[in-house]
Amino acid sequence: MLCQQANRMENTMTTRRQFLTTSAALPLLYNFQSTLLGADEATRLTSERQPSTQVILSFATEVADEPKDFDHIKALAEFLTEEGLIGNFHLTGDYARALKHHGRLDVVEALETHEIGFHCNHHGAAPFMAGYLEKMNWRDGTTEWTRNELPGLRVVEELFGRRPVYYTTEFNKAPQSIFASCQAGLPTIGYLPIPTRGHGAVWYCNSFVPSCESAMGVERFFSAGLKPEPEGQYRDRENYYRIKFDRFAEKLKGQKSTLIRAFQHSYKTYAVFPFEHPKPNIYREDNLYYEEHPHYLDLLPEAKYQKGFDLFKRVIKYYAERAAFTSFSKYREGFRENQGQWQSLQELDEVCALLSDRLDAYVSATLSVSPAEAFGMLSRVLRVYHEDGALPDKVFMRNVIGPTSPIPDKPEQGDVSSAELLKSLRLIDRAIDNEQSIPPSIEIAGKTVGPGQFLNGLRSLYVAARKKQSPQSLTLSGPNLPVIANEPFFMEETLTKDRYPEGFEARSICQMCRLQSWSWKPAVNL
Ligand SMILES: [Zn+2]
Repeated sequence: MLCQQANRMENTMTTRRQFLTTSAALPLLYNFQSTLLGADEATRLTSERQPSTQVILSFATEVADEPKDFDHIKALAEFLTEEGLIGNFHLTGDYARALKHHGRLDVVEALETHEIGFHCNHHGAAPFMAGYLEKMNWRDGTTEWTRNELPGLRVVEELFGRRPVYYTTEFNKAPQSIFASCQAGLPTIGYLPIPTRGHGAVWYCNSFVPSCESAMGVERFFSAGLKPEPEGQYRDRENYYRIKFDRFAEKLKGQKSTLIRAFQHSYKTYAVFPFEHPKPNIYREDNLYYEEHPHYLDLLPEAKYQKGFDLFKRVIKYYAERAAFTSFSKYREGFRENQGQWQSLQELDEVCALLSDRLDAYVSATLSVSPAEAFGMLSRVLRVYHEDGALPDKVFMRNVIGPTSPIPDKPEQGDVSSAELLKSLRLIDRAIDNEQSIPPSIEIAGKTVGPGQFLNGLRSLYVAARKKQSPQSLTLSGPNLPVIANEPFFMEETLTKDRYPEGFEARSICQMCRLQSWSWKPAVNL
């Protein structure tokens, strides 16, 4: 028991220390901390083990038309700062504009020490993000995203004088939004319930996606709107949040992932919820001017809001005693980066050994390779082999993604000669450079084959070349989607929500998502 308490104290201290050392904006506080601790203690703190459980606490910062929201966000940020904890706030472009419009420098200052993310320009409305991505081809869709979203990103960046570091939107089911945000310099995704196979994070469309498998909202403290809460409501809710957290922590013990995601939609803490007025259908009406929407939030009486906020504080303190609060950028630092990687042929041999068994991402203690990246490496290695007459001794791993247009329904598998396959590689390799993606189909020897079938041929030829053999013909056969595509996340065929326009099904978006299973791979811990 005593030991447990000591551990908890240590955990809290580590948590605070972590926050202080990551927060460049707090030099005064940091000095204060240093003088409080003796030199030996400070050394011990820097070398001690961190609590095994990690928490990313994030806040949708999006209700730009409600002044109470500014006060709430400020109170959250200040509470966390006082506790030495870091929060992650993703702002819409409209929220940043509203803070400027209302002169809320106090809110900006309160957020200064926390992680800032981007949560779309107009919250995915005006124009409806999923709507245009559904209709457009990949290139036009990502261009349109850039045109619509970058002005919002710029507004948030300008307000804080630093670039937001992560991107969160419910439209991340569309891989176009992930690819485009990565290209725009937001290479971390705040929320996406993508399978992780127990890893702490995955790479998907070249972006880093922390695990969302242990996620919980800490946001609805009330069940009955304006009416008085029944006896014991606050105690029961508090217990609920504790138990849920403890269960996650227990489940994650000794696992590759130790991450719990706690999140809050601010309005669920200060407004009558469920709403008594219908929420504006911003996705349907395509109208970005919030003030033209009918009023829809009724505020709770201040005393009731405060009771909920106090409950939130107690819950967060409970978590802070058991876990280290982290930011998206800090969490990412715990993983190997995914750029600048040269692979030896021995490593490529191992990737091929896996591919001969199944079409899947390769992962070892130090390296992970998506099927799309394997396709890119084998195309390059064999092109060099064809043009120079010998295999290179290393190959650069390009971060290419999966096909960005549909794979033909009925690809024709069959045999091709090695010479034909080698001859095709110059154009394919160039196309990979140009598109940053692998082709959806390949025409070769009068046949149209899919990328999985072609990769199978590349693998056989590479394995033969490594043994100094030159086979006459190669069989292009096998599946055209990686095994991870069998997970429900990739299998979904439609995505509908009540607030989306009638008849909107997102079939094309779901198909693009399935194709990007080619870009999926686990992130490797450092
Ligand atoms: Zn939102």
